[in-house]
Amino acid sequence: MDYIDPHIHMVSRTTDDYERLARCGCRAVSEPAFWSGFNRASAEGFRDYFLQLTEFEPTRARRYGIRHYCWLCINPKQAEDPGLAREVMALIPEYLDRPNVLGIGEIGLNRNSKNELVVLEEQIALALRHDQLILVHTPHLEDKLKGTKLILDALDDQGVRPERALIDHVEEHTVQMVLERGYWAGMTLYPDTKCTPQRAVDILEVHGTERLCLNSAGDWGPSDPLAVPKAMQEMRRREHPVERLRQVFYANPHAFLSQSPRFRA
Ligand SMILES: [Zn+2]
Repeated sequence: MDYIDPHIHMVSRTTDDYERLARCGCRAVSEPAFWSGFNRASAEGFRDYFLQLTEFEPTRARRYGIRHYCWLCINPKQAEDPGLAREVMALIPEYLDRPNVLGIGEIGLNRNSKNELVVLEEQIALALRHDQLILVHTPHLEDKLKGTKLILDALDDQGVRPERALIDHVEEHTVQMVLERGYWAGMTLYPDTKCTPQRAVDILEVHGTERLCLNSAGDWGPSDPLAVPKAMQEMRRREHPVERLRQVFYANPHAFLSQSPRFRA
């Protein structure tokens, strides 16, 4: 069955992974800008990264019949340096017109620090100024609940229309708050932290399928680029009807991402 992975970091993956994704039915991927495991020393380093996301990756994906889209931002971890963050934010508008750019992301919080919050607010303002969709990273483990609340308040305070933002890495204790406030929610399937395919399907069974997406967030750390088709298998095993599978794995991400006129799948 065709599917879309709305959050995967293909810069960290091999070309073999594109082939495996294609074999499992992946039609499109969306790749947020993130912390690649090391600090980029200057804004020029981010320029190279944005070129990789907007030129190299879509070309690599196309060979396997996969459409590659991306999001641009300074990641929450390096937002701890507001000077650097502002230099990077100043570069972003140059790249927003590129054919595979869907919006600003993954912005958000890492340790819920003051600097991170200031930069988050400035990146939300940047997205609004340029009429861009927003993709949000929520903090890990113990910081997640507080961080998610801070992020939702920051989005609401600036008047972001909730249907224009997806709040990612939700878990059992944050999913309801995100959906109740009208935002899209993303569940990340990680082998150790975040959701397993079983937990994610449990969440879908409790909260329904509206405005929920699943992603692999495959990156340079322990992660599984095929986590989305594995969750699909788990839903099949539990005998969910095929229309529900199609909604979760294709129609939902398609509906969110299609709010950008650039997205086609
Ligand atoms: Zn990510």
